[in-house]
Amino acid sequence: MNAHDSERIKGMLEELGLGEAPELEQADVMVFNTCTIREKAESRLAAHLGLAKTLKDADPERLLAVGGCFAEVRRERLFEQYPQVDFAFGPGSIAALGEWLAAERNGGASGSFGTGAERRFAAELPARRERPFQAWVQISMGCNSVCSYCIVPTVRGKQMSRSPGEILAEVGRLAGDGVREITLLGQNVNSYGRDLPVDERFGFAELLRACDRVEGIERIRFTSPHPKDFRDDVIAAMAECDSVCEHAHLPAQSGSSRILKTMRRTYDRERFLALAADMRAAIPDLALTTDLIAGFPGETDEDFEQTLSLVEEVGFDGAYTFVYSPRYSTEAASLPSQVPEEVKRERIERLIELVQSVAEKKNRSRIGSIEQVLVEGSSRTDPSLLRGRTRRNTTVNFAGAARAGELANVRVEDATSTTLRGAQVVPSPA
Ligand code: SAH
Ligand code: SF4
Repeated sequence: MNAHDSERIKGMLEELGLGEAPELEQADVMVFNTCTIREKAESRLAAHLGLAKTLKDADPERLLAVGGCFAEVRRERLFEQYPQVDFAFGPGSIAALGEWLAAERNGGASGSFGTGAERRFAAELPARRERPFQAWVQISMGCNSVCSYCIVPTVRGKQMSRSPGEILAEVGRLAGDGVREITLLGQNVNSYGRDLPVDERFGFAELLRACDRVEGIERIRFTSPHPKDFRDDVIAAMAECDSVCEHAHLPAQSGSSRILKTMRRTYDRERFLALAADMRAAIPDLALTTDLIAGFPGETDEDFEQTLSLVEEVGFDGAYTFVYSPRYSTEAASLPSQVPEEVKRERIERLIELVQSVAEKKNRSRIGSIEQVLVEGSSRTDPSLLRGRTRRNTTVNFAGAARAGELANVRVEDATSTTLRGAQVVPSPA
């Protein structure tokens, strides 16, 4: 979501005539789009703002703006903590940055927090996309869940769905511009549409089907679905729509039903397992990835073992693993039984090791198969190879002659826990 918002920030600044500087040192306007989901994101920001201060001290004409969820949660206190900041804005008021910059050029005031009249979809702003053939498409903002560890509802507010007409118009425009792969974005894509006016009701399954009908869009992805809202109609749409990729990022968070309960995820281990099985039965070759938290308050060794066993039982193709991080004003932050740092550390290491070994096994099972790859550019480690992603969302480095944005058929020859290696087979799809 932040990557998407950053593309909109760039697009908006370009419209104001501000191009991207190659290095921070050369920028007249420095903009940081921040995250606050875990504490680590904040300590990284502190280092960036330290550098920005040095640059500003050397040239006080430089402007420094801080946007995103950290800015939102700190609001005016941000200026006490970082007096070098000229302007701050939250994720729902990105447009305020453009307005402030325009005013600043005419001698406007520094040290203010941007508050738009109302929350606006970042998607309404122009975008500067990283690659011409891939695009994020925001379908909703905010979240109505109350996961006890999570700060997102505080900083991004209640769920608001974009109208299906606007989403489909954007997808149509993107297809016209040459985009072949879209990723539908929301904090809980499966609850998309529930807040729309009754006469405009449109569910996520219908949205997938409607996007699938857009000529030119060959791959549809989405993130993130909440397991509690993953219904049969969405599974059926995934199975039936040719463009919807065989991959779901399904955040489990924990394998222990007891912990899932205190996390307020509203599903238990059995329900998660049943969902994974239903999805796999309906969608052959489905890749499943997940998010997992280690060291949630009250997590015992036994609970943690259940997270490990979930990884094995589901056989995740990959997982983002996080050490639990207490966040401002969340319910879990004030739970009495916080897990000591060294226990969290030890657990995350075991978890990462297991995730990698399971993922490696899954990837090795692809050796010998032919995968359709959307070429993204050259390999990061070996420029003589190309890099792209399979429909199952695995990165592949391969020998071949395709151009970025093209689809290539690649025979898989080798695999690690995160990447495949192979060679293009001809003929490939157009
Ligand atoms: N809306 C998405 C998640 C967005 S946050 C969903 O529910 O699937 C991305 C991930 O960050 C979460 O899935 C969770 O695993 C992790 N996360 C959120 N809050 C966290 C915290 N306080 N400590 C550690 N990890 C956290
Ligand atoms: Fe956070 Fe839960 Fe909402 Fe995801 S569903 S954004 S984890 S509150």
